[in-house]
Amino acid sequence: MEFDQSMDPCTHCGACFSFCEWDSAVAEGLNPGPEICRDCQTCYRICPRLPFDASALAASMFPSASPAAWGLSITAGTGQACPPESGVQDGGIASMLGRYLLRTRQVDAVLVTGRDAEWRPVSYWATDEAGVQAAAGSKYSTAPGLSVLQPGLDRFERVAVIALPCQSAALARFRQSRPQYGDKLAMVIGLFCSKTFVHGDQRTPGLSGFIRDRLNRPMAEIERFDIRRGRFIARAGETTAEWRIKELADLAWPICAACADLTAELADVSLGSVGSSEGKSSIIVRSERAQALVEAGVREGLLEIGPLENAEALEKLCNSKRHGAEQLPEEQRKLLGRAAIRGNWHRQRRRSA
Ligand SMILES: Cc1cc2nc3c(=O)[nH]c(=O)nc-3n(C[C@H](O)[C@H](O)[C@H](O)COP(=O)(O)OP(=O)(O)OC[C@H]3O[C@@H](n4cnc5c(N)ncnc54)[C@H](O)[C@@H]3O)c2cc1C
Repeated sequence: MEFDQSMDPCTHCGACFSFCEWDSAVAEGLNPGPEICRDCQTCYRICPRLPFDASALAASMFPSASPAAWGLSITAGTGQACPPESGVQDGGIASMLGRYLLRTRQVDAVLVTGRDAEWRPVSYWATDEAGVQAAAGSKYSTAPGLSVLQPGLDRFERVAVIALPCQSAALARFRQSRPQYGDKLAMVIGLFCSKTFVHGDQRTPGLSGFIRDRLNRPMAEIERFDIRRGRFIARAGETTAEWRIKELADLAWPICAACADLTAELADVSLGSVGSSEGKSSIIVRSERAQALVEAGVREGLLEIGPLENAEALEKLCNSKRHGAEQLPEEQRKLLGRAAIRGNWHRQRRRSA
């Protein structure tokens, strides 16, 4: 049977995969028996797509924050890293915070997402500043970045993660269900995200097929992608091409339509372009530990932050994403929380074996 992507309820954040013994056995080339699913329920407890009370979780995580259209926040502003580094997406704050956490030894590793030559996202633990900087810039294809979470938690004393909203939600659920890891997972730096795209392969053209057809160029020649003011922009040498984001609707990962969270409302600090001018980032500080980090960055001259330039634009996009998720057809809504759970998949396989 052909795999019907529109029926895939999984956001592919990668979190459950990281803890699943069945999957790691398969990855090692073994053929696990049904007994290997320990029913540990980690997948169930951390899945960001299962219904859970996100507002209550945010309130327990961020007691000093106040409600805003972009979720609970202590402050929201527009900023940039100083001096600006090349290769960053907007204000370069995500990379700067990651580097600073390593430099000051607040963490031993930062989970970042770099890319291969074809722009496929590749997530890894950066243990030095060069490793963080090498991952600068946004990759808009869907990536199960958290699939390396558990090995990192085993290997390092304290870590930070740069994460999309779905991944930030998985990490918040993880912190809640395993409080003993609270200090180890020292900082979640969230990125705004309206959607991710299917990358594309032999069977599904995806983003790489779109670029090949529309630009007549392979992905490997693209130097930079951007999403700004409702447009998707690709740059290669002297060429800049842009399309209305709606033209790429068919390439979007289907379950992203069910996500109501634009700004990573469960991350310690969130960064995005909307609300700020080019070369700068909107920054939302939610937790006290993120506030201390950002204040230290400003004090040391590594970060400049002023008032949020365009709160109205940010508010509009937050509301539009929430509204879009509420308007989903019943069928798609029911899909949520069904078979995305790895334990359920394995149990289903056991039954049909
Ligand atoms: C898939 C995606 C969709 C986005 N959609 C929007 C949007 O709709 N509106 C908006 O305002 N902003 C969006 N952003 C955020 C924006 O593109 C920038 O990431 C953000 O402004 C931070 O910029 P920066 O210069 O501080 O980041 P940089 O300093 O350049 O660092 C970027 C960081 O992003 C991480 N990263 C890159 N790709 C991924 C990925 N696929 N998954 C997880 N981490 C990744 C890297 O690890 C890197 O550390 C999106 C980002 C991504 C990855």
